[in-house]
Amino acid sequence: MTANGELFPQRTVPVLVPLPVDRPYSYAVPEGMEAEPGSIVQVPLGPRQVAGIVWETADGDDRVDPKKLRPLTQVFDCPPIAEDMRRFIDWVADYTLTPPGLVARMALRAPAAFDPEPWIEGLELTSERPERITDARRRVLETAAETQLWTKSGLAHAAGVTPSVVDGLHKLGAFRTVKVPPQPAVALPDPGFGRAEMSAEQRQAADELSKTGAERAFSVTLLEGVTGSGKTEVYFEAVAAAIEAGRQVLILLPEIALTQSFLDRFHDRFGAPPAEWHSDISPKQREKIWRQVAEGRIKVVAGARSALFLPFDDLGLVIVDEEHDPAYKQEDRTFYHARDMAVVRGRIAGFPVILASATPSVETRVNADLGRYRHLRLESRYSEAALPDLSLVDLRRAPPARGRFVSPVLMTAIKETIAKGQQALLFLNRRGYAPLTLCRVCGHRFQCPSCSTWLVDHRLRGTLQCHHCGFEVKRPEACPECGTLDHLVACGPGVERIAEEMLTDLPDARTILLSSDLPGGARRLRRELDAIAEGEADIVIGTQLVAKGHHFPLMTLVGAIDADLGLANGDPRAAERTFQLLHQVTGRAGRTGLASRGLIQTYQSEHPVMRAIASGDTEAFYRREIAERERAQLPPFGRLAAVVVSANTRKEAESHARAIRKAAPDDPDLEMLGPAEAPIAVLRGRHRFRLLVQGSRRAPLQSYLRATLAGAPNPRGSVQLQIDIDPQSF
Ligand code: ADP
Ligand code: ZN
Repeated sequence: MTANGELFPQRTVPVLVPLPVDRPYSYAVPEGMEAEPGSIVQVPLGPRQVAGIVWETADGDDRVDPKKLRPLTQVFDCPPIAEDMRRFIDWVADYTLTPPGLVARMALRAPAAFDPEPWIEGLELTSERPERITDARRRVLETAAETQLWTKSGLAHAAGVTPSVVDGLHKLGAFRTVKVPPQPAVALPDPGFGRAEMSAEQRQAADELSKTGAERAFSVTLLEGVTGSGKTEVYFEAVAAAIEAGRQVLILLPEIALTQSFLDRFHDRFGAPPAEWHSDISPKQREKIWRQVAEGRIKVVAGARSALFLPFDDLGLVIVDEEHDPAYKQEDRTFYHARDMAVVRGRIAGFPVILASATPSVETRVNADLGRYRHLRLESRYSEAALPDLSLVDLRRAPPARGRFVSPVLMTAIKETIAKGQQALLFLNRRGYAPLTLCRVCGHRFQCPSCSTWLVDHRLRGTLQCHHCGFEVKRPEACPECGTLDHLVACGPGVERIAEEMLTDLPDARTILLSSDLPGGARRLRRELDAIAEGEADIVIGTQLVAKGHHFPLMTLVGAIDADLGLANGDPRAAERTFQLLHQVTGRAGRTGLASRGLIQTYQSEHPVMRAIASGDTEAFYRREIAERERAQLPPFGRLAAVVVSANTRKEAESHARAIRKAAPDDPDLEMLGPAEAPIAVLRGRHRFRLLVQGSRRAPLQSYLRATLAGAPNPRGSVQLQIDIDPQSF
């Protein structure tokens, strides 16, 4: 301790702890401890000890008497969180109106990683040789010469002797014990490994991107290429350039289901896999990856949106694959869009960002059109492959038979496809067997007990399920209302019902059903995807899971069962989403040069989305949609935020929402709408009301919301608020 507090004021540092705190707290730095900005430290907080990040150089908080400050407990032996990462955390907290501590928590997800990984103890050959050389000893010495470092058991095993032989040699001085750093989690990718031959069009884009990948300056590039144009191959050149420049690369992927084939392709190209980061990674592996990313030992990470918060030592490039995908939006605690935040991360740290898609989001397209983003295009499929021939099946004119969902036109096409030894994909974006079950006698509908939603019939599991809260009951035989047996009817189709229809009508066809909720999880899914790619299925039936990214060589027919499904809700993004999904799913057909087609079943064949899909005129869709957004001042031409107020009773939720509305200041650029019941009015037993804030592009949305919330009463009782800046569905 400092002898004289007056002459040598105690050193203090602000520490941000990963809890819902709105600012760093000050701590004293004990004599002999060194803590720099970014250091990960342990601090006392109330009765607990928590890990936190030293935030600034500036001496902490003058609200607290320095003599009363509690000291840091420990400074971890761990690379500090880089300056640009700390600025990023601040920025995200400010933008999303989330307490900075909660954003910091996303960056500190692997607590055990703060301690260094233990070194590995091994045996190394010396020049000493024992006098007596037996056969076994000779084998050990010869084997040991092959590699520098061995574990005792590994060497014994490789030489085919018992460990005691190795022990004996060790005692006689033929080996010495050495300690080496832990193995890297993944081997280093080699930028020159499997460089692909490229078409002229690909080459041109790849050359541009490889220049970009090596730059140490912020830029955003939209790589827009039709399905099967080889976008991955092309952006790999930017990855190679960044690795060659000695920097780290992050590739964001929207869906874990896609990861395996991506990892294989990456491996083929770079001779080693990237490190994976998503919810399916074991905690042990997570710690290793977190640590080695921080140490700069891992060069490339491929992962889900949360990978954006990994503590990279020297991040030099982020790629957002399928940038339009809704899975990039996190709607849980901190509401953020990983694509937008990737761009922010690049701007703060000064590195290039590449957004890849066949169907970019309207926001990204506008940014590219206005020249804010560079725009690279791939107009044709790789090799000889042509895009599928697309047409609409008007269900008003050619409806399916009663109780059926596949129209005669589509059925004929399926039979023709199978007869040629090719594959058909039937797409319906709805899990389970039927979205609604009702009693034919009394009209009772099965509803979730804690949400304002219908229960979905899942026949394969024999249950009725709520897709919003996870509630599940055994499928009853009698109506709980009137008691009548065997009169429950399924209304509408889900993928299981389409699979049943195929099994009934085409019993000899090999059918595979793909849906995220089927037993067996990711491993089964991977097996099924492989089976499809190997041609071991005739008909594939699936949800949006099959729409994305996959490459099935024999797939030549795609049928969309209910293309209107996404258009039904009043969401202004409905047209965009539907267009993207239909475009992506039909893009699974004909990727290897076989003639292919897509049939889209719709009741709205005049709808602009359906017309754009059928004609393949992507530009017409964007022109119209962009004009529409501009007219309505919707994003990206205007700004939006949603505030959802929830409570145990409807009354509490509504009255708090009204109080917030009342507190909203007058602002010429911003308007608060509502409150109205949220689209899901009751969720997990909580009643929900929603306020929308709409304003012009430059409107100060965040400060308006802060002022509103500061003026409103604090949430009391069961009331809770959720703030969603740039909501994706509204
Ligand atoms: P996209 O992501 O644009 O839909 P992909 O990158 O998945 O397209 O490429 C489609 C298919 O074409 C993949 O199987 C890929 O391996 C192959 N391909 C694309 N470009 C090349 C190339 N230059 N050399 C070899 N194969 C390629
Ligand atoms: Zn529910």
